[in-house]
Amino acid sequence: MRTVKLLINGQLVNGHKNIDVINPATGKAFMQIPVASEAQALEAVVAAKAAFPGWAATKIEDRQAMLRKLADRLQENAEEFAKILVLEQGKPLAEAAAEVLYAETFLRYFAAFNSSMETIQDDDEMQVEVYRKPLGVVVGIAPWNLPLLIGANKLGPALVTGNTIILKPAPTTSVTSLMLGELAKDIFPAGVINIIADENNLGPILSSHPDVAKVSFTGSTVTGRKVAQTAASSLKRLTLELGGNDAGIVLNDVDVSKIAERIFAGAFMNCGQVCIALKRLYVHENQYDEMCDALANIANNTKVGDGLDNGVKIGPLQNFMQFEKAQKYLGIAARDGKVIAGGAVLDRQGYFIQPTIVRDIDDSSPLVSEEQFAPILPIIKYSDVNDVIKRANNSEYGLGGSVWSSDIIRAKEVASQISTGTVWINHHLHFGPHIPFAGAKQSGLGVEFSKEGISEFTQCSVISVAK
Ligand code: NAD
Repeated sequence: MRTVKLLINGQLVNGHKNIDVINPATGKAFMQIPVASEAQALEAVVAAKAAFPGWAATKIEDRQAMLRKLADRLQENAEEFAKILVLEQGKPLAEAAAEVLYAETFLRYFAAFNSSMETIQDDDEMQVEVYRKPLGVVVGIAPWNLPLLIGANKLGPALVTGNTIILKPAPTTSVTSLMLGELAKDIFPAGVINIIADENNLGPILSSHPDVAKVSFTGSTVTGRKVAQTAASSLKRLTLELGGNDAGIVLNDVDVSKIAERIFAGAFMNCGQVCIALKRLYVHENQYDEMCDALANIANNTKVGDGLDNGVKIGPLQNFMQFEKAQKYLGIAARDGKVIAGGAVLDRQGYFIQPTIVRDIDDSSPLVSEEQFAPILPIIKYSDVNDVIKRANNSEYGLGGSVWSSDIIRAKEVASQISTGTVWINHHLHFGPHIPFAGAKQSGLGVEFSKEGISEFTQCSVISVAK
């Protein structure tokens, strides 16, 4: 049976106790992981602090090479990572394999980053140079929906820019992150990377620690606010990637048969548990019935089951709490709208619900106004495009959104009025390491990915010389 350990100060160690890891497809434990004590979390901070000066002074080419090596090792072990990701997270094997590949690809992109000095003025009066310096100890905190990818997206930028890091995945999905620690152990100097698991108790200890310079947090908006509070005492640098309630707006000129599959994929990937999943769909009244029928038809023909089984497109909810939350939203769907596909829990072990399509529902329903994070899509009718833009924007969230149309100029005109970090046209839920990813409003603070996002792991420092 596979075991994993914590990575603290270059050593793979046991925790203060072990906890079960539940496979959401069965509701039963498939392995155990060690969880760190508070003392071990503090040890990780001490190790990261001690390793920082040496790592910051390491040539960028060497840091890049080590990150590339981590990506190579991940690639070599991709099959095992993907299988264990299915067991711990629930997603279908193809999605898990894609997440492993994305993690590797993102690591390679970060490894290519070079924050060389920039001269912004050099004339008779003055020479002004801008340097990018590492911050110190970074804490990366990840959620349970894309655990490996989100962890890699914190490690890569922190390390290439010369910071050291403590990564803390979510309690229900720590296995693949700890496996990444096994690979990292022999590549990086002791203390540069530390990866610990917890029982949902160590986040505040890490994010409030005075020796931590930056917290890169991905998770819910409620927890993000708490992280901001605990980080305030020492004014830590913060990147917060939080919740979303992405709206899709379908204009009245689409070919429903061409876009329905893409809309479905944008809403139901990872069982609807993606921050940038399409969570409410606004369709013009002229094509409303046709779109509802098309999406219900796809939902009825989508195989739900254990992610390791052939042909499965939708797995279980990741954990019992989320399963219960999804059932609450199923009740709301039946109360506030008309369920035209799905609507029930699967009659089997594990945390499964049917992919559910709900029509004749309006903005006042919590299924529309809240982030449901479940495989349930409400479809709302509209008649006036200016009105629907207002309704799409009427949310505390501002992560992503999409506009669907045969006329790109018209779609761009609508997209420019959507107050979110990303707006897709004729697709949804696309992201890449070179594309800045930012949440507007209560969906986040700062940017991830791209040169801009990586620069958030540095302190801008100017040297100005009078001539
Ligand atoms: P969560 O906020 O409950 O937990 C996220 C992480 O924070 C976990 O590792 C948890 O242990 C830790 N944590 C809990 N309390 C803490 C505290 N007080 N201080 C510091 N850390 C603490 O989120 P979740 O339920 O694991 O994930 C789902 C949420 O994540 C959804 O809202 C989703 O939209 C969001 N999400 C956002 C993005 C993005 O990039 N914007 C990506 C994925 C998920």
